[in-house]
Parts: sequence; structure tokens; C-alpha cells
Amino acid sequence: MAALLLKDCFYIHRSSEDEPLTGWDILVRDNRIEKISKGITEEVDRVIDCSRLVVVPGFVNTHHHFYQTLTRNLPGAQNAELFDWLVYLYEIWKHLDEAAIYHSSLLAMGELLKTGCTTSTDHHYVYPQGISADIMGIQFKAAETLGMRFSPTRGSMSLSRKDGGLPPDSVVQTEDVILKDSERVIHEYHDNSGFSMRKIVLAPCSPFSVTEELMKESAGLARQHGVRLHTHLAETQDENAFCVEKYGRRPLKLMEDWDFLGDDVFYAHGIHFNDDELTVLSEAGAHIAHCPSSNMRLGSGICRVAEMLPVNINVGLGVDGSASNDTSDLLGEIRNALLLQRVHYGAAAIKTLEVFDIATINGAKLLNFGRIGRIREGWAADIALFNVHKMEYCGSLSDPLASLIFSGYNHGTEYTIVNGKVVVEKGVLTGIDEEELVVKANAISERMIKENY
Ligand SMILES: [Zn+2]
Repeated sequence: MAALLLKDCFYIHRSSEDEPLTGWDILVRDNRIEKISKGITEEVDRVIDCSRLVVVPGFVNTHHHFYQTLTRNLPGAQNAELFDWLVYLYEIWKHLDEAAIYHSSLLAMGELLKTGCTTSTDHHYVYPQGISADIMGIQFKAAETLGMRFSPTRGSMSLSRKDGGLPPDSVVQTEDVILKDSERVIHEYHDNSGFSMRKIVLAPCSPFSVTEELMKESAGLARQHGVRLHTHLAETQDENAFCVEKYGRRPLKLMEDWDFLGDDVFYAHGIHFNDDELTVLSEAGAHIAHCPSSNMRLGSGICRVAEMLPVNINVGLGVDGSASNDTSDLLGEIRNALLLQRVHYGAAAIKTLEVFDIATINGAKLLNFGRIGRIREGWAADIALFNVHKMEYCGSLSDPLASLIFSGYNHGTEYTIVNGKVVVEKGVLTGIDEEELVVKANAISERMIKENY
């Protein structure tokens, strides 16, 4: 079994419940943290000098659309709100193929790993007509290449424009096809063992792109197999208006009526909930994937995180898809989570320890990963290490953890360790040639955008 010693750590943030440690060592054996102590002398395969590094639990990303990394920052969608933005982009996303899915997955996960994220989900819901490839299989191949812990969702859209939904026919599937494939991916990929690297989630896209029947059937299927459920909810006022007009009910009430509510469900965004709905969420134990950058970018609103946490609504953090953020910078997202709450609730509304909890243990809980999200003996060796002995952090080291989000501009790790393996080494991915990926991904992106015109 491989042993790795993180020696003489400048500062270790273990969790919000544990005191920070300075000058301690962490011994990693195989895929778990074996020992946290001073002056560890065990014989190991490798020693990393951590005397300049802040050491934190690896971050957990709870919402993303990897394929969107190829359609970032398009002028035609730069200044649009959600519905117009989607209608514009569906036409480009229908050109997704196997190569696009593989390389966009590498891009998104590569960026996440390089900014301290060790576990991620992905919400892939665009299945263009004519694509017969195993999309999730392609994504797992990318996750394995990079060494990321991965919990993708089987996304879906079944309500096209002709039936009153938002997406065009070219990117929706029938309920039958979706449910069969959902069952297939659970059987093929879901692993519920300790320190699992693969967990599946079922994720009909949103109330305005799927049918009632699909939501209900997906919920039943997920519960039969013990996997999580996910969808977009309460993201915009337009969505509220759509649900009230089409169904006579607000989005959360629809979820309640469609069995899509519970402690096994996480909703992306969750911005426009009223007071009564916060109580419903709290009582049901539902989770929120908070995506502050995307919410600002699309002008969607401010999620009531500072009011959710005190009533025990579990909030995780997500960078969201790269066409509405347009980066997978997880450390930057933690900074934005802190800042955005303060815009609405004031400077004392949310503090460093809380936003780090949101980005670590809360996310692990949301995605149903046990013993992930803290630095603790016996827990998974998922660790992010940042070098704060650089010009941009000078003068901020009276609180080294907070310095990561209050100061700095390059959010890259020095090392990222996933499941005991070093996957970012001196700021560079170990699993792939980054330059080759850049050339290839840009070529695919250019082709997709051209095909649309
Ligand atoms: Zn999303």
C-alpha cells in the first residue's frame, strides 16, 4: 500500500468543528488519511514538504454541465437571462458528439481539480438525436484519466416546444428511452461501497423541460435503487410564472406533488422560495446546490443561504455549467458565495468557516458520500493544498484559511490529492497533457459554433 507523508504543514483546516493545526504532518496510506500528528517518522513512499501550504479538505462540486465548457462566453448569450439564454444555446448544443463530451469533461474536471475540487457531479441533460454513444461511460473515462471522484447525473428532457416546454425536439428523448437508460447506468456504474469513486444520480432537467410522468417515474426508480435525485428548481421568476401558468402551482409544490421532494433530493439554485417553502424544504431534509456566480451572471437573484443554514437546510456549492459562469474555478466560487450573501444580508451574514463547510462536508452529504469532506483519521484522502507564500497573499496570513478567499487571484492548488493519489502536481494535472487538451478542445468548440451558422 502506497504511503504519502504531507510534512510540516503550514496550516491545516480540518473542519469547522476542529481547531486548525500548524506544523503538523498528515500520513496518507492507500486511499485514506491514516494519521494526523506532529513529527511522523513512518517510512513512506513519498514526502511532500508542506511548510508553505494551506491544507484543506478537497472541495465538492454539486452542480455543473461539463459540456458547456465548449460554449463559454458566446456573444449571443452573454447578456441574456435564463430562458432566452437556453433557447439560443440549445441550437448549438445539439451538435454535441462523443469527442465534444469527452474533451469538455476533461476541461471541466481539470479546472475543478486545479482549483481544489476532488469530488464532482455533472448534470448532462442534452442527448442530441442520432447520438448513440454511452455518454456517461465517456464521462467516467475522463474522470478516471484525471483521477476525480465522480457522481454524474443521468439528466433528461422530455417536454419539447410542441408540448409546451422550452427545448426543441432535436434535444429531447421519450420517457421510455430515458428511464431505460437511467436503469442501465445505475446497474453499470453505481457503486455504493466506502470511498466509492462512482455514484449515479437521476436528474430530469427542470419543470419547464420534462413531463410530470418523467419526474414521478424517475423518483420511483431512484428510490428503488437508493440513488440521489436532482433537478433545477426556483432558479428564476420566469420559471415560477411558467409553473403557475401551466400547472397552477409554484415549482416546489409541483415537486411535492410529483414525489420529487425528500432528503434524497438536491435542487440546483433554489433562489425564489418563500418563507413557507423554506419550512417545507427544512422538514423534508432536501438539499440545495447553490451556484452564486451563475446566479449573478444570469441576473437570476440571490439564494437565501444565510436563512437556510440556521433552519438546517443543507446547502452545497456548485460552479454550474460553464456557459453561465464561465469557469470551473471552485475556490473562486467559495469567494463568490461569501460575497454574494453579504450583498443582501450584510457583512456578518456568512463567515469563512461556513462557506468552507458549504464547499466540503455539506456537498459530500448532499451527494451521499460518507467520510468525505473533512481532514480526519480514517476519512478519505481527498485533500487540496494551496501555496500562500506568494506575493498576492502577503500580509493576509494572520488567518491563512480566510486568506484563500479574501486574497489571491490565482486560485490554483500546488497539489490536489484524490483518493490518496496526487492528481495535481505543482499546479499541473498529472493525468493528461494540458497543452494538447487546449488545442483539441478549442478545435471542437470552434466546429460546434460554426455548425450552427
Ligand atoms: Zn444548471
